[in-house]
Amino acid sequence: MSMFIVDGHCDTMMRITEPKEFYNSFTDTHINWKYIQDAGVKLEIMALFVEPQYKPYQSLVRTVELIGKFHQLLDEGPKNLILVKNKKDLEKLTNDNSVVGFLMALEGAEAITSKEILRTLFACGLRLVTLTWNQRNHLADGVWEKETGGGLTRLGKEIVAELNQLGIVVDVSHLSEKGFWDVVEVCSGPFVASHSNVYNIASHPRNLKDEQIHALVEKGGIIGINFCPHFLKNQGNATISDVMEHIDYIYQRWGPDNIALGSDFDGISEGARGLENLSKLPDLCDLLAKKFTSAEVEKIMGLNWKRLLQEILPSC
Ligand SMILES: [Zn+2]
Repeated sequence: MSMFIVDGHCDTMMRITEPKEFYNSFTDTHINWKYIQDAGVKLEIMALFVEPQYKPYQSLVRTVELIGKFHQLLDEGPKNLILVKNKKDLEKLTNDNSVVGFLMALEGAEAITSKEILRTLFACGLRLVTLTWNQRNHLADGVWEKETGGGLTRLGKEIVAELNQLGIVVDVSHLSEKGFWDVVEVCSGPFVASHSNVYNIASHPRNLKDEQIHALVEKGGIIGINFCPHFLKNQGNATISDVMEHIDYIYQRWGPDNIALGSDFDGISEGARGLENLSKLPDLCDLLAKKFTSAEVEKIMGLNWKRLLQEILPSC
């Protein structure tokens, strides 16, 4: 049985104009179908990122367009590619080595201004919601708004409850610090920081402070390590060893059960040196194997994501 590898965040959808580019590797994207296969990735969480020029007025229209584009990508894909929407789909991935899954995520919930809209997006296959991008929206303040100290709005709290109810993963990456603590309070189960790192190593506002990581771990959540150089290191060129350092920092304090991957490929201009695109993931796996047991490596490379999705996604 091969390893169950999960990448918890990428913005590749933003960089694809035609599905055939993705499947025939015409583009210079960090992720394409060949790289997914080269790396042996089982599940890629694909973010639909609403570009700033559509916000706020065209957010819903743009979100719906991106969902259409995402379904087109799936429809034109090979037979062994499935959309992961529930626990049964996770089983399909587990039981058949050749099956690869995509999970639909929304990065920035500008479009979600009511529970009814959320239910519509759920019906379209949405299974992970990053509550904000960097700006404020109807649900909460993003990290750029920290001067005002805002967290979740009343609607934001209702939507988190609805996400819990429906079986959609709540993601706090990009959320303001106050918003993070509101999620800790109102989220009924585990939540994720799909693509954030350790603030104590790289003091970027997108990273999580130790007390935040502690709270996330207490809730059974996971933190997907981001390969963006600015989130890995305060100065200088970040490399694959810096990714290892963030992983090891969390491991030493909280153990192996909450560490995962959230590359942010195609949402960043370049990855850390040694992790230039998805095909390089096996190199990270080799480095992890030098430091951790094979069971721990498997958790970090994907089983932690799988465990969390098994807990949250609907049964069928
Ligand atoms: Zn992001």
